[in-house]
Amino acid sequence: MAGLRARLAEWRRAGETIGLVPTMGALHAGHISLVDEAKKHAGKIVLSIFVNPAQFAPGEDFGAYPRSLEADVAKFAFAGGDLVFAPATAQIYPPGFATTLAMGGPAAAGLEDRFRPAHFAGVATIVAKLLNQSRPDVAIFGEKDYQQLKVVTQMVRDLDFETRIAGAPTVREPDGLALSSRNVYLSAKERAVAPSLYAALRRCARDISEGVTIQTALDTARKTVAAAGFVTDYFEARHAETLAPVISRDEGQIRLLAAAKLGKTRLIDNVGL
Ligand code: AMP
Repeated sequence: MAGLRARLAEWRRAGETIGLVPTMGALHAGHISLVDEAKKHAGKIVLSIFVNPAQFAPGEDFGAYPRSLEADVAKFAFAGGDLVFAPATAQIYPPGFATTLAMGGPAAAGLEDRFRPAHFAGVATIVAKLLNQSRPDVAIFGEKDYQQLKVVTQMVRDLDFETRIAGAPTVREPDGLALSSRNVYLSAKERAVAPSLYAALRRCARDISEGVTIQTALDTARKTVAAAGFVTDYFEARHAETLAPVISRDEGQIRLLAAAKLGKTRLIDNVGL
């Protein structure tokens, strides 16, 4: 971390602005789009790669999570990035580490938090550390993890971090499946079914836009997703900023958010209206 701070201090002395793209590695085109977005806001781009044990529950895929540091470094360099920060676990959580951030608001919206109770405490804690370590002007997060984007935005506001948080749209496969490092877990059969989650989200958004009640549109979507073979954790309509439940279209901007398992793979996705 001393090395990171020294390099960033040099850049700052030279008048550069710094953009941070936090990731867990296994880079795909979605991550690279965040790097491209960061370049619009800052002169020097730092990519962090850290598979954060604190945001995985026991029994989740921490051990199996794909790791490909060398390929990641090459992809990031090709995308025109400047510095990779890939700390060891002991650098982030040295012996005796005893702090964790407990958040309400979007972190307690009853979406991911309902199925992954310690997840956002882990996310908020690691993001707070990364922001303190690199003090970037801007940090970019994907809308793919929409609740996470809102949680990080809330934390930065509540704790007076000076970093600006910017979101970037979800990058998808040609058939609509959101790119994810976890897509490698899908069997060929599951991969063929996987895009139907996004299709259901879009159809639901269109139904609501065309005047179908939110409840009816959600019911139809939940049935469609189940019929396709998913086991759904949630398929919800929420206020796009607060993530509070919405029952009618005139309650402001709406976001549809879903998480569902296909075999052992858990997919999450969301769309705006
Ligand atoms: P991860 O490495 O999966 O923790 O993701 C790191 C960052 O990349 C997060 O801000 C994600 O929201 C973002 N991200 C993941 N998948 C995509 C995607 N398909 N399109 C855009 N951003 C993404």
